[in-house]
Amino acid sequence: MNMTIIVVGGGIVGSTTAFYLQKTGHKVTLIDKQTGQASKAAAGIISPWLSQRRNQNWYQLARLGAAFYPTLLKDTGTVHASAYQQVGTLLYKKKHTLLDKLTDLAHTRKQTAKEIGEIAQLSVTDIQEIFPLIQHSSEALFVSGGARVDGSKLVASIQQAFCQLGGQYLEDCAEKITPLPNSKWQVQLETGPVLTSQQLVLTVGAWLPQLLTPLGYQVDVHPQKGQLAVYQLDKYQANTASWPVIMPYGEGDIIPFSNGRFLIGATHENDQGFDLTPSLKKLEPMLTNLTQWLPDLPTWPIQTIQVGTRAFTSDYLPFFGPLSSHDTCYVASGLGSSGLTTGPIIAKTLADMINHQPTVVPVENYTPDPYIQQLNSSHI
Ligand SMILES: Cc1cc2nc3c(=O)[nH]c(=O)nc-3n(C[C@H](O)[C@H](O)[C@H](O)COP(=O)(O)OP(=O)(O)OC[C@H]3O[C@@H](n4cnc5c(N)ncnc54)[C@H](O)[C@@H]3O)c2cc1C
Repeated sequence: MNMTIIVVGGGIVGSTTAFYLQKTGHKVTLIDKQTGQASKAAAGIISPWLSQRRNQNWYQLARLGAAFYPTLLKDTGTVHASAYQQVGTLLYKKKHTLLDKLTDLAHTRKQTAKEIGEIAQLSVTDIQEIFPLIQHSSEALFVSGGARVDGSKLVASIQQAFCQLGGQYLEDCAEKITPLPNSKWQVQLETGPVLTSQQLVLTVGAWLPQLLTPLGYQVDVHPQKGQLAVYQLDKYQANTASWPVIMPYGEGDIIPFSNGRFLIGATHENDQGFDLTPSLKKLEPMLTNLTQWLPDLPTWPIQTIQVGTRAFTSDYLPFFGPLSSHDTCYVASGLGSSGLTTGPIIAKTLADMINHQPTVVPVENYTPDPYIQQLNSSHI
């Protein structure tokens, strides 16, 4: 049955959900207020296989997320190589024994994640061949399946595909959501209009409490400020397109893009609320650490600082699915610092759930219930 659906929040999750719902015949309106979006500020590293996070639910979701990317790009017709490119990831460890351990882990994980690609320990000479600016004196682990994503370009491409299918995009703020007696929803926009729909999807990242608290819910979602320094080095313009992502030890990653563009970051600031002011001070310890790999970094002029607000939960795990008290409202949030990896598969799963289709992801492991508690049911 085709429905009217409002998706509030146009980051990677909302835009992808809106795209798949519109593609399956629904009449979808996507509303985004364009403020603080994590997806647009992010330079995403898609390389979950080398993570030593122990939580299996997180790893399985991130693994499925990385594997889903080629399908997302094909479905949305995203061909721009600067939006997503598999350039490989190069990971450093302080001790060689740890590098060996991680190499074993990569081989084990390859059995269920062929997307990891080639796995190899590279010598200093090998590394300088694929990333000539790196001066570090130790070996590193290379996996060829690692990718980098320009969040802003990817989101723009998905939204374009959504609109080409006939989806309606509104730049506006959903000020208030109200459940109606017939299971429908009413959405009050900041600019005045009031919309109604049969289904509501809230993909508003860190802003979820602002929409659900007035309905009597307590929501375990918090804002985290993330900053990245952007550099443009014209003298390397012809070379950087295929350079791999560098994941050093200590703080910070080095993410080269095509045409001599480098992004370096990102900070994880849990005490800054929704502040979006660029602060070089917070980036400085990271930039200092990275001079071990890029000794000339202090001489590079910073072009700009990208700032976004991530959403995190108390256990740093994402959640998605219907509200237990209202099954015509779906939510997703808490994607934290791996949301460009998990966002597209979460979105596809949300669309499949709304369409009553089987899902690849075991959704019972990611239910919103532990994170969204109904304190006062008189509003619903
Ligand atoms: C600097 C930085 C670096 C990162 N690096 C990586 C990385 O290397 N790898 C990785 O996988 N992930 C990374 N991430 C994390 C990733 O970007 C996020 O987890 C992910 O983009 C979250 O997507 P989202 O759609 O849930 O939320 P968002 O992208 O934040 O989108 C939510 C949208 O909802 C809108 N909104 C909120 N309230 C309303 C309302 N009431 N009405 C209308 N619109 C509303 C907001 O304005 C926003 O546009 C990084 C994030 C940052 C900030």
